[in-house]
Amino acid sequence: MVPPGAEMDTMIHTFDQLGLSPELLQGLIKLGFKKPTDIQSAVIPELLGGDRDLVAKAQTGTGKTAAFGLPILHRLKAEILLPQALILCPTRELCMQIARDLTQLADFMKDIRILPVYGGADIRPQLTALRRGVQIVVATPGRMVDMLRRKAVDLSVIRCVVLDEADEMLSMGFEEDLQTIMTSVPEASQTMLFSATMPRTVADITRNYMQDPATIAIGMHNTGPDNVVHEYYVVHARDRYLALKRIVDLIPDLYGIVFCRTRQETQEIADWLGRDGYPAHALHGDLSQQQRDRVMKAFRNRHCPLLVATDVAARGLDVRNLTHIINYSLPDDPGAYTHRSGRTGRAGESGVSIVLINLREHSKLHRIEKQIGRKFISRTVPSGDDICRVRLHDWIKRWQNLEPESALLDELMPALIERLDGMSRDELLRKVAYQEVQRLLEYYRDQPDLNPEVRREPHADKSNGSNTTHGNIELVLNVGAVNGLTPTLLLRMIETVARKQAVPVGRIKIAKMQTYMEIPASLATYIVKSFNTHPPEISGRKVNVAVAGARRQLFRNARSKVGGNTGRTGRTRPPKRKLFRHSGSRSS
Ligand code: AMP
Repeated sequence: MVPPGAEMDTMIHTFDQLGLSPELLQGLIKLGFKKPTDIQSAVIPELLGGDRDLVAKAQTGTGKTAAFGLPILHRLKAEILLPQALILCPTRELCMQIARDLTQLADFMKDIRILPVYGGADIRPQLTALRRGVQIVVATPGRMVDMLRRKAVDLSVIRCVVLDEADEMLSMGFEEDLQTIMTSVPEASQTMLFSATMPRTVADITRNYMQDPATIAIGMHNTGPDNVVHEYYVVHARDRYLALKRIVDLIPDLYGIVFCRTRQETQEIADWLGRDGYPAHALHGDLSQQQRDRVMKAFRNRHCPLLVATDVAARGLDVRNLTHIINYSLPDDPGAYTHRSGRTGRAGESGVSIVLINLREHSKLHRIEKQIGRKFISRTVPSGDDICRVRLHDWIKRWQNLEPESALLDELMPALIERLDGMSRDELLRKVAYQEVQRLLEYYRDQPDLNPEVRREPHADKSNGSNTTHGNIELVLNVGAVNGLTPTLLLRMIETVARKQAVPVGRIKIAKMQTYMEIPASLATYIVKSFNTHPPEISGRKVNVAVAGARRQLFRNARSKVGGNTGRTGRTRPPKRKLFRHSGSRSS
């Protein structure tokens, strides 16, 4: 974190060092906030030290609410029952969230009234609350302008205005409303602007409404929290939903948001997931406020741990401890990806952001990589066996930690033991384990491999494709480290399968679920054919071999040279049999 132009005390490790009131420190203890986040260490001393305007480039999830909230609360005069701080933010969700956060921080302060004022809800209770008197107003711009027109709010003693998620407010078309509001607050009031990105429109606001602001940047390039791992899966567009289900099946205790691009897609995916037995709800603009509240409640209390949402509907949503963000489809704007992935990995927790792309979306992924300054990790869509393996391991772990204390169990144990008398420990374990994964095993029996045959990742290209030794060709196998494959085993397998010919194997790369190996191009037909005629097995999985994507043409040329599979026209025919099956059929 570098606050350009500002001297920063890098030695701030505790909230005590920031000079906050004892009541606020008590509130922080109650919330379990042990030490200030980077933005809090940078912003709080700056704001406590004076009335200078402030521009902070900070991602959502960095702890920015407390960064501006604590100084506001610290300087509040409880005896004055008029709004002294006005916080503007883009959505109702965020508005309620900020009001909730500030109320919690102020838990030990006396007579503090904080009011969220947002659209899409009955205005009357908000008018009544304003009339009764509040000290902090958290508002969405549209409703705030409405209040001003009704002369329902007195902004004459406002000391501080916060523009939170300024880029979002502007991209949602609130520019005019912001202008109206900014011209209604006292000129001497301090303005703080928080934004994940700094487009020209935001710069205009800082120029027009702020004076010599201090600037603080958390993270150099809007990169999002460091503790988020970014992963991607490549699938055929038609297999996207099936791949999503596999990913969901693979992750025990998944608590996350699946992002879609349109309302229709969002509803469709949530419906399909619901139909297939997954606890998922849709969140998009077509929902009534009541429906939205119901969905959010079920998501927050984890009755429904999967939320399928559009970018707009999920704006400002702050739910802690999300384990995953799944980008079912990528947003057009790379900046939106940062907002999505920033919903996980909040305040130092770790999180994973998963992206599903089709074969033509690599360039989109590159643009995002550039924007976030990180590389995506390539993942292979798991097979049913992979999923069951992970699930069983997780189940064993949970089992080991289980402490089944129950008087009823004590009472029933003798009868249980008697009924199961004669069943061996292995037999018993097998049955119980089977029961745990039975549904998955049955569902995934005979399901196709969803990894496209031509699977050339942008990063793998360098190491595998273009560097293949001259005259060699690269083959890809559908098994990898998870199947227990080692170089020795692989060489032995080739020896067994290709009995008639010695095969000088070049470079071998064993990935988690796939393996790449180089062999002389002239032997490719023979090897592929031999493997397909008598497919060997490893850990119960039949081994398939194919020519790795980009080298296919080379392979064809080589085949025609060695008198391979050519048709009557002399043109090379593709291999008859597809080695990796991928079918468009959807499971029910
Ligand atoms: P924000 O960026 O304000 O949306 O904050 C993200 C999350 O971090 C919220 O759930 C806060 O409650 C939490 N949080 C903020 N500050 C701290 C802190 N110092 N320690 C732990 N959690 C925090």
